Amino acid sequence: MKTYDVIIIGAGPAGMTASIYAIRANMTVLILDKLSPGGQMVNTNEIENYTGTAKINGAELSMKMFEHTQELGVEFDYKTVLEIKDNGETKTIVCEEDNTIYETRTVIIATGTVPRRLSVPGEEQFAANGISWCAICDGAQYRDKDVVVIGGGNSAVEESLYLAGITTSLTIVTMFDLTADPKACDQLRSLPNVTIYPYQEILEFTGDDTIDGVRFKSTKEDAAERHVKCDGVFEYIGLEPTSASFKNLRITNKFGFIEVDDEMTTKVTGIYGAGDITNKKLRQVVTACSDGAIAANSAAKYVESLRG
Ligand SMILES: Cc1cc2nc3c(=O)[nH]c(=O)nc-3n(C[C@H](O)[C@H](O)[C@H](O)COP(=O)(O)OP(=O)(O)OC[C@H]3O[C@@H](n4cnc5c(N)ncnc54)[C@H](O)[C@@H]3O)c2cc1C
Repeated sequence: MKTYDVIIIGAGPAGMTASIYAIRANMTVLILDKLSPGGQMVNTNEIENYTGTAKINGAELSMKMFEHTQELGVEFDYKTVLEIKDNGETKTIVCEEDNTIYETRTVIIATGTVPRRLSVPGEEQFAANGISWCAICDGAQYRDKDVVVIGGGNSAVEESLYLAGITTSLTIVTMFDLTADPKACDQLRSLPNVTIYPYQEILEFTGDDTIDGVRFKSTKEDAAERHVKCDGVFEYIGLEPTSASFKNLRITNKFGFIEVDDEMTTKVTGIYGAGDITNKKLRQVVTACSDGAIAANSAAKYVESLRG
């Protein structure tokens, strides 16, 4: 069986950038992803803060990054990684499909995050059928309709700006106040079809066969509960690390994020973390790319040391 110098798990911006740096360092490289390359960027309408591209659609940036990896000859395969086994100088990657196994000297884990859920009544019933976590995927269904967005951080505000442009009314219900980039918050507040309810707790999603509203109450004042009618809901209340597949390595903190140092090394020799899956403060495309480059550089140095 071929032993790769590095296998990168996750083809988001962190993983794709890692592959570019790894192949340019003369390593044999394989990227595995369960979905199409791009990670969370694929589901982002507009990325306006990636250096050199004033405004770019997330799917377009994903494609540009993937093409870059392909021009350099990076191998890519659609696989869901189930487990990483550490055998010292080599690692074994076990994949879901047919239990495929790969051997590698190093691993870069760049598996990112998935949206957090509220876990309130009605959420499971209407998940993907009235409640969505992706405005770019599902927003068009709500053209000229009434929509509620839950959350007040960067993703909630950015996606609300997009949704407000196509919906009749957009109601934002958030646990705190808006905490996103101040310029984007001001822009959102100035829109005539936008209403914002800060400091609220979501109680329930209502409806029979289809969702028809959201019930919530203030966390600050003893006001009556509110019920806002809507045709659809978008939830942006934070992210959870995709780290179940490598729990056995014991490299995550208590929240499930991988603990890395400045060189993106974990406490297991030859295993590196990069991007949103790591314990960092700013989770953005540009920081994911930076992590990927550093992780690949560290992996390359380690592989060189193995060769003596
Ligand atoms: C709605 C939204 C809007 C955003 N807007 C912006 C913005 O405007 N500007 C900005 O800079 N950032 C933005 N971000 C954040 C940015 O998208 C992320 O910081 C970035 O994508 C993180 O990159 P990553 O490579 O670490 O992980 P991800 O992009 O999450 O990619 C991880 C990849 O790993 C794969 N994967 C996971 N588990 C496995 C497994 N077991 N086996 C195989 N593959 C697996 C996934 O399929 C995925 O493709 C936004 C995020 C969201 C959700």
